[in-house]
Amino acid sequence: MIRTRGLRMSYGAQEVLSGVDLEVHPGEVVCLLGPNGAGKTTTIEILEGFRLPSAGEVRVLGEDPAAAGEAWRARVGVVLQSWRDHARWTPRQLLTQLGGYFQPWSTPERPRPYAVDELIETVGLTEHADKKIVRLSGGQRRRLDVAVGIIGRPELLFLDEPTAGFDPQARRDFHELVHRLSDLEGTSILLTTHDLAEAEKLADRILILTNGRIVASGSAEELTRQVAGTAEVR
Ligand code: ADP
Repeated sequence: MIRTRGLRMSYGAQEVLSGVDLEVHPGEVVCLLGPNGAGKTTTIEILEGFRLPSAGEVRVLGEDPAAAGEAWRARVGVVLQSWRDHARWTPRQLLTQLGGYFQPWSTPERPRPYAVDELIETVGLTEHADKKIVRLSGGQRRRLDVAVGIIGRPELLFLDEPTAGFDPQARRDFHELVHRLSDLEGTSILLTTHDLAEAEKLADRILILTNGRIVASGSAEELTRQVAGTAEVR
């Protein structure tokens, strides 16, 4: 689903990514974990085709994201870190409008878009579906962001800090949704977080990004074992 080789990115003189090699396989939930400023958003924005890398090879669903067309975009879902638009619309209006864009790419195996009512229920917004977006709370607004990201029933979903601002219940609901997308729809997911506990709950595989490179890759258990092997207690 995703493959990068030697991915580099500099902002002026500051090199943020200095040779990132990563892969995401079909059906995997992969978590990009790292401290603030590590370059997680930069990486994910390059993979989404929103940012041009300074160097390196990038393939997402077999294509170069910066040059890919609408058929490619229809297969990809994106939940940005923050997004503000259409404040005077209601969730139902926004999802109906955006969902319409995916219709030309509907196939029997992957009917697009999701039925709006079903999606609203899935993300837990049924009671708020006809309120103006500007009146939603931060957490409700974030649920809408997730709905916007998955309305086209994506094969590959990018989630950038998806649970920032969620209360514990919203977080649990969201984790359940990610498992459902991955298990029932076979969606491949790349998400970023700086929350180790969240990565452990969600990810089949965790990639740790620091100092511009992927320094470790494995399941939570494998990574724990690597660290445990070198611990020293005095
Ligand atoms: P993360 O998502 O891991 O917190 P980011 O990719 O947002 O990291 O940022 C990585 C580094 O790149 C930070 O030091 C940030 O200040 C810098 N950066 C991000 N976007 C830009 C930009 N548009 N221009 C200049 N510097 C940027």
